[in-house]
Formats: sequence, C-alpha cells, structure tokens
Amino acid sequence: MPIQWDNRPPNRKWCGIRIVSVPANSSLAFVLLGDVLGVWTHWVPDASERAGGRTRPCIGDHCPHCAARIPTRWRGYIQALMWTSNASARWTEVVLELTESAALFLDGRELRGLGITASRAGKLSHVRLRIEDAPARGLPPLPDVRPISPILERMWGSVPDAGSERHGEQANKLSLKNDMG
Ligand SMILES: [Zn+2]
Repeated sequence: MPIQWDNRPPNRKWCGIRIVSVPANSSLAFVLLGDVLGVWTHWVPDASERAGGRTRPCIGDHCPHCAARIPTRWRGYIQALMWTSNASARWTEVVLELTESAALFLDGRELRGLGITASRAGKLSHVRLRIEDAPARGLPPLPDVRPISPILERMWGSVPDAGSERHGEQANKLSLKNDMG
C-alpha cells in the first residue's frame, strides 16, 4: 500500500470524530444532536477480489460511478453521541450514517437530544438499518451543533486543496442535498 501523504492542514475541530455505519449483527445507542444532512452516493465495490466496497459521493455530471452505471443511493449523516462500552464506557461524539428508511423514521421529529438505538440484524452489512426510540439517561451536556459537510468532504478526499485543481473542482460538484430525492 502506498504511503498516503497528506499535507492539508487538519481541521482541528473535527480531529478524531468518526463516521459510524452500524455493522451487521449489532445494536448501538445514540443521542442525536443536529439535523440530517443528505447526500447522493454510490456503493463502489473494491477493485480487489474481496467482497466489499465503500460509499463514495456522486459528483454529478462527470461522475465516474454514474458512467460505470453503478446505482445511486441516498445516505443521511447526523451528528450524534454514541455510547461506547469498551474499557472506558462513555458517550463519544460521532457522525452516524443513516439509510433512507432510517431517516424517514426520524423525519419531522425534534432530533436534538433524541435517544435511539440503531441496529442491523443478520449477517450481511446491507440488511436494513432499524431505528427505535431509546431514551438515554446520564447524559453529559450536549455538544453544540456543527456543520458536518467538512468531515464528509475530508473523508471523501474532496476538500479543496491548493495544490490540486481537480480536488477543488470535485468539491464544487459534490452535491449535498437535504431532500429525500
Ligand atoms: Zn454518480
């Protein structure tokens, strides 16, 4: 694997904040903090023979994944606290990835402070994400709402980069949408 040099200045506000996609056969507890940010994406299979892939944003007119006829799918992202029950049990700030049906379950509700569990049953990671209300107790003061597009852009490598016109062009074309399409 080549070394991934990266001389972009780190966005310190977001250092260490993870994007969480609930794995198969697991159930995680969250307290939601902001609103859902929607984006059109593609599930792009790995080039290697391993079964798997990753979510990449659709960049519109010149999108290579559209050209390859990979279907688009909507994903929602929301700032949240996640309960981690490893060595140090505590609430950790994350960005939670939602499917369309999960976002519809939350649509029209007051989300800030809402406690939920998000779970996937079964062995395949594409099985449906199920959201249920689960009021949380013993919460710390809720962190401020922050824009989450910067961390998505950083994860997807589309942050405008002084040394690369191509990256800047991609960032401009990254189509973040709040509607359900
Ligand atoms: Zn596309």
